[in-house]
Amino acid sequence: MTQLLIIGGSDADISEALPYLNAALRGAVYNPAAHVLTWKQGGHNLAFHAYQIAISNVEDRQAAVREIEGLVELVNRTWERRGEIVPNLETHQCPTAMSVFKLLPGTNCKQCGQPTCSSFALKLVAAQVGLDDCAPLQMAAHIDHRTALETVLPPMPAIGRKLGPSGARPDTRRED
Ligand code: SF4
Repeated sequence: MTQLLIIGGSDADISEALPYLNAALRGAVYNPAAHVLTWKQGGHNLAFHAYQIAISNVEDRQAAVREIEGLVELVNRTWERRGEIVPNLETHQCPTAMSVFKLLPGTNCKQCGQPTCSSFALKLVAAQVGLDDCAPLQMAAHIDHRTALETVLPPMPAIGRKLGPSGARPDTRRED
């Protein structure tokens, strides 16, 4: 497995942005004391530090740079919109895909565009789909499970990946 450690630059302390990312990113786990926020996206494990963004499970440097550029944009976008986001200083754990799967209808009907309910569960915890994408879950028979899912799943990300005004581009350094 290759791990790329990305250095954001000496003037790019993103510590103050972490509580806003914690509020906006589903499944993020924030450690306020250490100023670290971890998150999973697209099969990658991500860690946001004051001056670093680390990403794992990347095939090559080019792919890592592309991913990190998107994450830098995400941080910039979040910071731009901090007036609209209530910062969250709590450390909360992301529900497991298995615990989410157990609350889905379990019919593997594919109406959500996924081949199975378990695939949908994986995407739910990664905030790549929403509860509304599962049509059977909207039926009265599943209302209790939908309510439970709304409770355990943090809200969908409130932010997009639009490039911020700084247009920051990271330096990269490889760690194997
Ligand atoms: S639409 Fe819902 S029930 Fe059907 S496969 Fe997707 S998650 Fe499962």
